[in-house]
Amino acid sequence: MNITSQCSLADPALERASLRPDCSSCFALCCTAFGFARSADFAIDKPAATPCPNLDQDFSCTIHDRLRPRGFRGCTVFDCFGAGQAVSQQLFAGISWRDAPDSRPDMFAAFKVVRQLHEMLWHLAEAQEKTFDADTAREAKHLRLVIEDLASGPLPGLLACDLEGLHTAVRTNLVGVSEELRAGYFAAGTDHLDTALQPGADLAGTNLSARKLCGADLRGACLIAADLRGSDLSGADLLGADLRDARLDGADLAAALFLTQPQLNSARGSSATLVPPALTVPPHWREE
Ligand code: SF4
Repeated sequence: MNITSQCSLADPALERASLRPDCSSCFALCCTAFGFARSADFAIDKPAATPCPNLDQDFSCTIHDRLRPRGFRGCTVFDCFGAGQAVSQQLFAGISWRDAPDSRPDMFAAFKVVRQLHEMLWHLAEAQEKTFDADTAREAKHLRLVIEDLASGPLPGLLACDLEGLHTAVRTNLVGVSEELRAGYFAAGTDHLDTALQPGADLAGTNLSARKLCGADLRGACLIAADLRGSDLSGADLLGADLRDARLDGADLAAALFLTQPQLNSARGSSATLVPPALTVPPHWREE
């Protein structure tokens, strides 16, 4: 583990700052490693492990400032949690897949694994920051240590790591934190007892506008195109919830739990949407 990792482990907020994408230090791994299919999100088919035709020689995107009008909405939603620069600069020492073509399979495979590990780190940092339970905080910190070690290499251990086992351990910690924090909202007369508001619920297109959804457990819920305008989601668990095209104008998500940047990017909001301090308002919200 490097010095930066040790410092960030002591400070979850610092770690979350390091889990933001830095495209200028990345060999455009998201534009290369992943494949995509022609759809509402992508204007073309692209197989995995091939460069997107819009990728320039310097790893920049030639249509960066007009992705949505050109039919590449999916590119404005994706977020690598800082995996791109970590793989490019740390694991592969700043030598690109163009300069060393033989490194492509390992580099692309590593990117897919590190992205998942970094997303776990993002959530664990939030868990450690928000829990009031010392044992839970210690467990979150321990998991962060294990995952940081794996993510920083060496490569064979990284590529062989038990991702499913790690997902299970992380999920257990997050669920504990979620239950602890959501319990604080249960006496406040919110709508969390609504039986429709359950983990994994299919709430696609549902009108949930102007509701008090404080402390609701919406983990893994399908909220595609749901109307959440003007709703209060303080303390609502949104881990893995599908928010594509959900209406968030005027919604209060500032204290929502386990919300990520790609979830926000996929939704429709406005300057009247309150987002958690660790996240940013997607630029395309201002254009819609
Ligand atoms: S359109 Fe641009 S951002 Fe999207 S995959 Fe292609 S090069 Fe990358």
